[in-house]
Amino acid sequence: MSEYIFSSLSAQHGALARKEISAEELLNAYLARVREIDKELRAYLTVCEDEARAAARKADARIQSGDAGGVLAGIPAAVKDTILVSGVRATAASMSLREYVAPYSATAVERLDAEGAVYIGKTNCDEFAMGSSTENSAFFPTKNPWDKSRVPGGSSGGSAAAVAAGLCGYSLGSDTGGSIRQPAAFCGVVGLKPTYGSVSRYGLMAMASSLDQIGPLARTVEDAAFVFRAIAGPDPRDPSSMKSPRDPGSAGISLEGEPMRIGVPKEYFQEGLDPRIQESVARALSLLEKEGHLVEEVSLPYLQYALAMYYIVQPAEVSANMARYDGVRYGSSSSPQGKSLNEWYVQNRTEGLGKEVRRRIMLGTFVLSSGYHDAYYKKANDVRYLLRENFKRVFENVDILIGPSTPTLPFCFGEKSENPLEMYLSDVYTVAQNLAGVPALSVPCGVVDGLPVGMQIIGKWWKEDDIFRIGHQYEQLRGPFPTPPEDI
Ligand code: GLN
Repeated sequence: MSEYIFSSLSAQHGALARKEISAEELLNAYLARVREIDKELRAYLTVCEDEARAAARKADARIQSGDAGGVLAGIPAAVKDTILVSGVRATAASMSLREYVAPYSATAVERLDAEGAVYIGKTNCDEFAMGSSTENSAFFPTKNPWDKSRVPGGSSGGSAAAVAAGLCGYSLGSDTGGSIRQPAAFCGVVGLKPTYGSVSRYGLMAMASSLDQIGPLARTVEDAAFVFRAIAGPDPRDPSSMKSPRDPGSAGISLEGEPMRIGVPKEYFQEGLDPRIQESVARALSLLEKEGHLVEEVSLPYLQYALAMYYIVQPAEVSANMARYDGVRYGSSSSPQGKSLNEWYVQNRTEGLGKEVRRRIMLGTFVLSSGYHDAYYKKANDVRYLLRENFKRVFENVDILIGPSTPTLPFCFGEKSENPLEMYLSDVYTVAQNLAGVPALSVPCGVVDGLPVGMQIIGKWWKEDDIFRIGHQYEQLRGPFPTPPEDI
């Protein structure tokens, strides 16, 4: 069965529908691989074998009755630990939630359930999704399947490593400033941050609510599109979710259509970009140009302020959202004996929350405090509006934008963890899309020195179809992407 481990979702679906394999056999193949390599890789925080087996048997019964279901039916999926799956532990990689069991499922999870998904486990991440390497997990870091001395990226590092290493068919992650796209790039898989509002955030632990989106990580653009279409759509339980003006549920990936106008933001090719990444992206662009697409340089002047804006807006929203983890309403607590309520809160939050989470809470509280609110938070929001206007204007002349997903190749453990600013810089190409709300996809576009490189395709609001089309077409031109070396 192991020959199906790295197959595309439609190939796995075909094999299930033709009864060449059963969903339970496919699950067993993945579980065997998890047992074999995840002791070392550590992509999973929780493996839910019993629940997965029950779901696989249910899928098999359905297939036996002659109904093979949709393309995701019976295929093992992994879910980031900040996303709730009813009855399964959800820690968000935080000590404060180490014993928390989700009482309900996220809407995205329910929607995949309806498609017959088989949840194999919950993946590791940076604590509450704050970080870029999984080194902020309170439990252990995840390793990069391409090189175990390097990070898989983050915060959805476990979700990306699990797909890359063949430990699931696809996974869900969440992206607030790059947490799907950066690990996808570092692990050589595809990752989509959908348009803000296209996927319900209900059941995703809130981090920065105006930026957070759930999205898929998968081995191909088509696979990511299948998952996106299954989870997208308005949800009355998330008032920020909306019906797409373009109905993302319907269209397939079409290679047909007019040549596209591709804008290449010059701000993405300046100082700090590894020249090997620049070359890989340039090669990909020339392949697309040869296919008839028009490539031109564009400028979004406010991109240069995106990281500064992000690290004001994001901590501000974090400080508000994290207030509930006081050990009384949410999160773990130790004995209040002899303590005032305030002292007890301080004790619970100090014991339950890690260094980076506390840093963001303090930063956020500072930028929101009276006297500083106007100088920081209000100003950042004003500039955020201007950044959106930049995107609007540039999209009057081009259909999509292409640039690198990350400025560097996957870095080594410890290389940036002592220097928060260095770590924050790894989000320099991804945060603007969250601030503006536009969709963006990371697609592998090369391997240098044994490490994968990601290219970022950014679309207009609600035009995931456009980025799927270019991404899928690019994959055909590029050819199959290698899997990580087998000695993992
Ligand atoms: N790395 C970024 C941060 O630390 C983004 C995190 C995310 O997208 N969840 O905030």
